[in-house]
Amino acid sequence: MASPACPTSCYCLPRTAPLANLIGIAVICGTVSNRHILHLDLDTFFVSVERLLDSRLEGAPILIGGPSDRGVVAACSYEARRFGVHSGMPMRMARALCPEATLIRGNSANYMQHSRAVTDIIRESVPVCEKPSIDEFYADLTGMDRFYGCLAFSGELKDRVIRETGLPISFGLSSNKTTSKVATGEGKPLGAMHVGQGGERGFLAPLSIRKIPMVGERTYQTLRNLGIQRIATLQDVPIEMMERVLGKSGRVIWHKAHGHDDSPVVATRERKSISSERTFASDSTDVEKMRSMLLAMAENLAFQLRRGGKLTACVTLKVRYADFDTRTLQIRVPSTAADHHLIPVVLDLFTRLYTRRVRVRLIGVRYSALVEGGTQLDLFHVDKQREALYQAMDKMRTQFGARSIISAAGLSARSIGGPNPFSGEPPILLANRRQ
Ligand SMILES: [Mg+2]
Repeated sequence: MASPACPTSCYCLPRTAPLANLIGIAVICGTVSNRHILHLDLDTFFVSVERLLDSRLEGAPILIGGPSDRGVVAACSYEARRFGVHSGMPMRMARALCPEATLIRGNSANYMQHSRAVTDIIRESVPVCEKPSIDEFYADLTGMDRFYGCLAFSGELKDRVIRETGLPISFGLSSNKTTSKVATGEGKPLGAMHVGQGGERGFLAPLSIRKIPMVGERTYQTLRNLGIQRIATLQDVPIEMMERVLGKSGRVIWHKAHGHDDSPVVATRERKSISSERTFASDSTDVEKMRSMLLAMAENLAFQLRRGGKLTACVTLKVRYADFDTRTLQIRVPSTAADHHLIPVVLDLFTRLYTRRVRVRLIGVRYSALVEGGTQLDLFHVDKQREALYQAMDKMRTQFGARSIISAAGLSARSIGGPNPFSGEPPILLANRRQ
């Protein structure tokens, strides 16, 4: 039946219908200008998981990350933050600031498992769920207000996550992703913040420009040099000036500062693995050729991981001999999407697996145990310089083709590539082929 209260000509169920049915209908009712976007973020996620596993850590300052001198703080507890410690800081500096902190190396398998438990609860509760990183979620609740109330629903979802997983979580609710994400951050820990329609600009105004997603250290300094510190000041700057100073992203930041953000919540498919295989035109014993091809596969798959914002924790190598004897060997690795970690693993597996001196028909590489990694290359060893290098290379690959930048040793492998396995985007044009 058509509801008279609904401005779009959709079909709404009576209030007594079970919630699951209502959620299914909710998407149809949504209009872009009147959206309800929920952002959820687990509070100090790695720390909370460690505390679940060892309650003696409750209330203590904790640092998680690589303990070596080159290590970086991947996460820290609120108790450690009081000493001026923050994530991304060199571990050496953090230990100097807070010597009594408990240092934990971190265990990505544990974190993935707990992240999955939270994901399952959220996925089954909301119509569309996007998971941009291991501890963060967006949901589009548009239309649900007609039946239930988005704020009440969000509060119940939060309580359920805490009750069923033991992990503290905060949420922000508003008309768009940017404002909701900022609201989540403002409410932490255990926060629940709602910014009503039309209240976005006023909510953002008193906050530091640092709070705008996209404003990193460099942009922050550029804006500070212009005398801009609060979002309110940025709101009064003409958009043209922002564009002159920061280019295209200046415009985006200006819109975000006003609480304008039309970007949709995109349902992320949980992909369990990605792989690449090659069957030789004629069976081969050329070890160098095989190593070169494996290197190219390892590199291309790592690029696809980064494009999908994923990390892998398991590498499998496959060799099929000419007599169809197929062997595989797999190894667990610390979660990563970095070529310089994955390529040696793949080549080492090949050395261990290719033991029969028989011609080879097929070789393949698979990365599995995938987890959301955002722009990180590695959960625990943040290397800003290397991240910047990979980002620059990947930008070229996206623009000019997956094979526009490759390791010299992989040059002989000619056609590794394929569609983006996470979004279903069409394959990248191969630079070495005539189009
Ligand atoms: Mg978090």
